[in-house]
Amino acid sequence: MVQKPTPVAVCGTLTPDQVRILREHGTERPGSSPLNHEKRPGVYRCAGCGNPLFTANTKYESGSGWPSFFDALPGAIEERKDVSHGMIRNEVLCSKCKGHLGHVFPDGPPPTGLRYCMNGLVLDFQPEDSANSGTI
Ligand SMILES: [Zn+2]
Repeated sequence: MVQKPTPVAVCGTLTPDQVRILREHGTERPGSSPLNHEKRPGVYRCAGCGNPLFTANTKYESGSGWPSFFDALPGAIEERKDVSHGMIRNEVLCSKCKGHLGHVFPDGPPPTGLRYCMNGLVLDFQPEDSANSGTI
């Protein structure tokens, strides 16, 4: 791994919006993420700690306004029941830094039937072309 995250260094690289989502369970405006239209092959990492979370071949267009995936990398995320806002949802957290990433819903496409609805701001996309350093 190239990155050696320490809590202090990681926080210093995040924008206030990213901190708001990761640490305070914020949500970005729908349609605001450039990653909605990202179609290149590559890996999506946690913006908080660099943990690889999703690959581009599990990304799909859900029409929700947020980057959506139907599967996560093994062990990359944790789920937790979230009963805020009068709804029962499953919150998605980074398994490494426990940062809030988004929610998972049971209305996704096959084969999983899941929709990982993510905040693009807390995803760090690494296109395959620039991923030749062998970090994954
Ligand atoms: Zn993380």
